[in-house]
Amino acid sequence: MRVLSGIQPTGRFHWGNYFGAIRQYIDLQNEEASYYFIANLHALTTVRDKTQLEENTRDAALDLLALGLDPNKASLFLQSDVPEVSELCWILMTGTPMGLLERCVSYKDKVARGINAGAGLFTYPVLMAADILAYDANIVPVGADQVQHIEVTRDLAQSFNHHFGEVFVLPQAKLLDASAKVVGTDGEKMSKSYDNTIGIFEDAKAMRKKIMRIVTDSRPMEDPKDPETDHLFLLFRLFATPEALQEMADLYNKGGFGYGHVKKALADAADEYFGEFRAKRAELAAQPDKVREILGDGAAAARKQAGAVLRRAQEACGLMPA
Ligand code: ATP
Ligand code: MG
Repeated sequence: MRVLSGIQPTGRFHWGNYFGAIRQYIDLQNEEASYYFIANLHALTTVRDKTQLEENTRDAALDLLALGLDPNKASLFLQSDVPEVSELCWILMTGTPMGLLERCVSYKDKVARGINAGAGLFTYPVLMAADILAYDANIVPVGADQVQHIEVTRDLAQSFNHHFGEVFVLPQAKLLDASAKVVGTDGEKMSKSYDNTIGIFEDAKAMRKKIMRIVTDSRPMEDPKDPETDHLFLLFRLFATPEALQEMADLYNKGGFGYGHVKKALADAADEYFGEFRAKRAELAAQPDKVREILGDGAAAARKQAGAVLRRAQEACGLMPA
């Protein structure tokens, strides 16, 4: 399997990023080839501040490496270090129907949230298609919100192949059922740009404060509650051992507990879960040259692959006359 995925440096990585995407990156890094990139060109659609974008990008690399991404197994690089992808994006753009992009819910959601919609945000799925197709990826580990974009990628690849001949490999999304859509403190999809996140490397006190703010329903404490429909329980499920989870489910089914109890258990479990990655992150943060070298090596490997696919596409559509 050839694996590709990207993550935007739009803010600090959160539980949704980890359980929906990053954990899969680590699991899949032993595959035949795996490419993971920091999507700074995508982030530029929403982060319009040089210092902020630079800081987010450094944090992104440190977070991924600290969480277990191994540069000896996978290529880790910055999206903007592979210009071949932007060129491929243009080629795909020429065959992209407007209606296909107008139907994308991720774009519509961001607009509804008041995020400024430029042409970059609108055409985001085409750049994402180029990202995926440039590496002949057949597996794309993502959260549920990206499934539609992978459908778009398949559509664009299929229509190009149909028109110009077999050039692109059709990719498939890979989701983790229980964590494909992690909810945030407001009960909606946790998103870096929605101010509803709980960060992976958040300091313990700040994390507890955010957990205490998670919205809960107002049913009386005595009532039994269905754990499967309670988002606090679903968050707890991400971290808990099977025994702790069963205990908590029994408590829900019996009733007579307060959400404060669940929040405390959640904070303890999350603390313990991410605690082990902190030392590694601090160690890497003290070696910026090493991190830069990892990203440079990753980009070199990525460019080699993306260049080959770009040439295939250019040749097929008449951009390289003999
Ligand atoms: P932004 O708000 O800037 O779009 P984001 O939090 O949605 O940021 P992305 O960088 O867009 O994060 O997505 C990176 C990966 O994390 C994608 O694979 C995406 O599907 C996954 N992901 C993001 N949010 C969640 C979530 N709440 N639950 C599960 N997976 C998620
Ligand atoms: Mg997103």
